[in-house]
Amino acid sequence: MLDIENYVDGKLTAPVSGHFIDNFDPSRAEVYSRIPDSDERDVALAVDAARRAFPPWSSLASEDRFEQMMRIVRLIERDLDDLALAESIDNGKPVGLAKRVDIPRAAANFRFFATAQMHLANESHDTSGRAINYTLRQPLGVVGCISPWNLPLYLFTWKIAPALAAGCTVVAKPSEVTPMTAYLLSKLCIEAELPPGVLNIVHGTGPKTGSAIVSHPDVKAISFTGGTATGEWIAREAAPKFKKLSLELGGKNPNIIFADCDYESMLETTLLSSFSNQGEICLCGSRIFVERPLYDQFRTDFVERVKALKTGDPRADGSDLGAIVSKAHFEKILSYIDLAQAEGGTVLTGGRPVNVDGLNGWFIEPTVIEGLPFDCRTNQEEIFGPVVTIQPFDSEDEVLGYANSVRYGLASTVWTENLTRAHRVAARIEAGIVWINCWLLRDLRTPFGGVKDSGMGREGGFEALRFFTEEKNVCVRVSSQ
Ligand code: NDP
Repeated sequence: MLDIENYVDGKLTAPVSGHFIDNFDPSRAEVYSRIPDSDERDVALAVDAARRAFPPWSSLASEDRFEQMMRIVRLIERDLDDLALAESIDNGKPVGLAKRVDIPRAAANFRFFATAQMHLANESHDTSGRAINYTLRQPLGVVGCISPWNLPLYLFTWKIAPALAAGCTVVAKPSEVTPMTAYLLSKLCIEAELPPGVLNIVHGTGPKTGSAIVSHPDVKAISFTGGTATGEWIAREAAPKFKKLSLELGGKNPNIIFADCDYESMLETTLLSSFSNQGEICLCGSRIFVERPLYDQFRTDFVERVKALKTGDPRADGSDLGAIVSKAHFEKILSYIDLAQAEGGTVLTGGRPVNVDGLNGWFIEPTVIEGLPFDCRTNQEEIFGPVVTIQPFDSEDEVLGYANSVRYGLASTVWTENLTRAHRVAARIEAGIVWINCWLLRDLRTPFGGVKDSGMGREGGFEALRFFTEEKNVCVRVSSQ
């Protein structure tokens, strides 16, 4: 059985404790590799290596840093098929999705930030002819990047790439549930001859490895994506140490459908925004609100299309949904389906585990539920699985009340052909991103992040590069007056 290793100071190493944790293939419900059960000693070694690597890395010419990062891009693209298969086995997602979305986006993250850092400009101000003030941006030093299991390599690189591009050195931890592609990335970094210590990947559990990264005094910033409860803990731990924080947290996203929408396009995209990656994308729309004149037609057509989705072996072509990432998460989702029924909801389709091809894995049918009030627990708490609720509405004010009733504010989708209404509703939705007549279209130059309990800070674009720098104002007197 394969033992995954940490990547510290340019080398693959076993954890100091010598202990490993089982890593499961969720579509077979079986252990297929082991990951290091790292602790604060491994994190300390990684931080030391990152500290030593910082001076040369941060003073590299931006063209040289670009070249180093582009070598990694080329290797990710060369190994696209192998990485996609590894991601599918580790996470349970359909391999086709990993090939189309996750792995190309990991390469795009490195490419985007490698390029962007060459164009980062600093402001200067002429102070009435008496002085010139300019802003000097300098990389922070050693930073920590912690990512979740749902889009393993995509989100891991979304944090690492801007940090490296800004000139920081990194100690990173992928989720213990999906470590494989981060491990393969560490091998690619060795092949790309990334200088030792620039990127360090320490595997292990959140409470042990993750918290050791957050608490380490020499880690200057934490870029974290994960659940709101973990984000709260990180904020409490990091605030007294004045660390910079970027927190991308949970969501409970509304999908608002007006009767004048482009129906076919809405239906097709709503299937994707509900069930892509088994609904395990923080940006999936899990609360679908439909204007009453369209509700019955939508209900019939949507349920029919959901029934036609194939939940299948993630490694087979043609599976629309794969396995749920872990047994614990599988049980959590099923408990929410039970809760929805206890709260008075009716399951229109799905709602049960499926035994796919006798594989014994953790599969759940795509599930549509109706008849629930907007303020019940099912409609307020993040489920993060293939479960959506549908509900009619009569007016804009009413649906905005439903949409904004949750503690979260990550993403939202609005379907209407009425331009004025689209802009008006977009302005009133409490969410970091509003997609109008589309979903998951991303321009990496735009700032990305949630409002309310969905997080703080913005990732993406130049914002992400600036996050990993310290801003210094330099004031030069140019006249004696
Ligand atoms: P978790 O918060 O459980 O874990 C996220 C990461 O944090 C994992 O690497 C985890 O390690 C680690 N971690 C856990 N506890 C600690 C700790 N005390 N200190 C430091 N690190 C810790 O989230 P999930 O992995 O379950 O991911 C799902 C969540 O992520 C959902 O809420 C989803 O909405 C959110 N998410 C948000 C996105 C956004 O852009 N806003 C995008 C994608 C997901 P380990 O797994 O090893 O325990």
